[in-house]
This record gives sequence, structure tokens and C-alpha cells, in this order.
Amino acid sequence: MTCPQGKTSSSWTPAHDGKNRDVIKVKFAQSDCRPCLHRADCTGHTRRTLTLRPQDQMEALLAARQNEQTATFRGYYRQRAGIEGTHSQATRTMGLRRSRYIGLRKTHLAHVATATAINLLRVDAWVRGELPSQTRPSPLRMAFALAA
Ligand code: SF4
Repeated sequence: MTCPQGKTSSSWTPAHDGKNRDVIKVKFAQSDCRPCLHRADCTGHTRRTLTLRPQDQMEALLAARQNEQTATFRGYYRQRAGIEGTHSQATRTMGLRRSRYIGLRKTHLAHVATATAINLLRVDAWVRGELPSQTRPSPLRMAFALAA
């Protein structure tokens, strides 16, 4: 692997991530990174480190990301886009992931109350002229932007 300054990675080590999945840790030499003027813009503190998935998973991930750029995918995803934001808001603000009640009837009632509360929050935001926030770019995308 080559960094934006043309230095080559010094080690590729098989490891496990926090969820015990196979990963590969790629590190660059401290002797290259320590004197580098672009270290503050790079990944890692003392030297560039990257965590990659095994090759077959990485290729599947890249293929999926490439598929995300197609018009067909965007057409499908457009149907989901609104509900993703709604689920996220309900999870963050109202603990939607866990039911506070036992039994389907009470849980359903809680879901209806949550949906109503979200509608009220959105009406309130709309009245105050608040715009929906944009999705943050991932750290990996930022690293690619730096490399380009
Ligand atoms: S700090 Fe980043 S850009 Fe600089 S030599 Fe190391 S890997 Fe390359």
C-alpha cells in the first residue's frame, strides 16, 4: 500500500477487531511518518495505520459500494431514505430499540406513541425553520479525499 506521500506500508498483520472479526492491520514505518509534514492530516497519531477486511470481504464491500453508485440502486434506496432517518431519530431520542413493555399490544401502543412524538418533533422543527442535517462524510472518505 502506498500513502499520498509515496511511502510504502511496512507491515500487514492478521488480527481481530473489537467484534472478533478477522481484519488486517496495515502500518507504515514510524521512520517515514514521524518526520512527515502531512502527519496531522493522516490516519493514526504517530504513523499511518489502516484496518482492512480480508480480501474476499473487501472485494464484496467495494462491489457493494460500486453498486451504490448505479441508478437502479439509487432508485431502490430512495424508497428507504426517509425511513432510515426516522428510525435513527426514534432510536436516538426515544429508545426505539427496546420495548419498555411486555406483550405485543402494549408494545404496539408504544410504537404508535413514538411515531406520534416524532411527528410532533418534526412539526416543531418545521415551524422553527430547522432544516434536516446532512450526512457526515466517513473518516475513510475524508482520507481518500486527502489522497486525491
Ligand atoms: S504520515 Fe501519512 S502521508 Fe506522511 S509518510 Fe506517513 S503515511 Fe505517508
